Amino acid sequence: MTTDRFGFKTKERYGLRLQRLAVDGGFTCPNRDGTVGTGGCTFCDNRAFHPSYTHGKSIMQQIEAGITFHARRGRKADGYLAYFQAFSNTYASLEVLRVRYEEALSHPAVRGIVIGTRPDCIDEEKLDYLARLKEQGSIVEVEYGIESVYDATLERVNRGHTFVCTKAAIEATARRGIPVGGHIIIGLPGETREMIVEAASVLNELPISSLKIHQLQILKGTPIEADFREHPADFLRPGPDEYIDLLADFLERLRPDIAIGRIVSSVPPSFTDAPWGLLKQEELLKRLKKRIISRS
Ligand code: SF4
Repeated sequence: MTTDRFGFKTKERYGLRLQRLAVDGGFTCPNRDGTVGTGGCTFCDNRAFHPSYTHGKSIMQQIEAGITFHARRGRKADGYLAYFQAFSNTYASLEVLRVRYEEALSHPAVRGIVIGTRPDCIDEEKLDYLARLKEQGSIVEVEYGIESVYDATLERVNRGHTFVCTKAAIEATARRGIPVGGHIIIGLPGETREMIVEAASVLNELPISSLKIHQLQILKGTPIEADFREHPADFLRPGPDEYIDLLADFLERLRPDIAIGRIVSSVPPSFTDAPWGLLKQEELLKRLKKRIISRS
């Protein structure tokens, strides 16, 4: 197994080094507003994932603030991708989506959009519109929250959709030539080490081009915290070394053409009491690459 699959290489795919700018498009989530459910996924606290530069600003202002934010950190880019990340970014009428996406695309430095969403918040009409945006020259990518390939897990974490739904959304998106990314969580309740590694074989059947992986973080005040308190034996809770081993096994099974965007999630310390959750992506990646090389 090689170690060159890490990171989203926009230079290879588009010939440009593109920086993602997180944009809060003002969308909500059907698993919170009562359409699918009210409590949300048991692990979710969306407040933990909003960069401070998105707060209380229009989409255009967020893009300007994001460009300044990254420039101050010395990150050079040939252009930007507006990354609609918070909540479910296709959960609105087509007219609303059009206004919000096209506001982002009207910024001269923005080359495209990346849309994070739930698989049950997409339909043929929205996908046809995204395919048209792509034909007109914008970069368009969609990232779906897969979270787990097992229906029992999806039910336990109150996800509100099945894996069949995930598969259908991913296939319909990829059929239109839109690159599809997925997101999964390692360590959800009821999943054993073997199930996690086996999930790679299931994911291999999906036409995804990238995957973000992160360890389960039990955030304070979320329903999964109560689930963990009541059923600790159902949670794998690997420490960093064990997690790296598990990732190495998982990646050995995963199709080599699937790029890996993230392997860890770190939320602000006030949201979690799990100290290893603060481990940085770069640090863990360095250790994972070392482990992969030592195995080959
Ligand atoms: S994880 Fe996504 S789908 Fe689930 S409740 Fe949070 S915003 Fe909604």
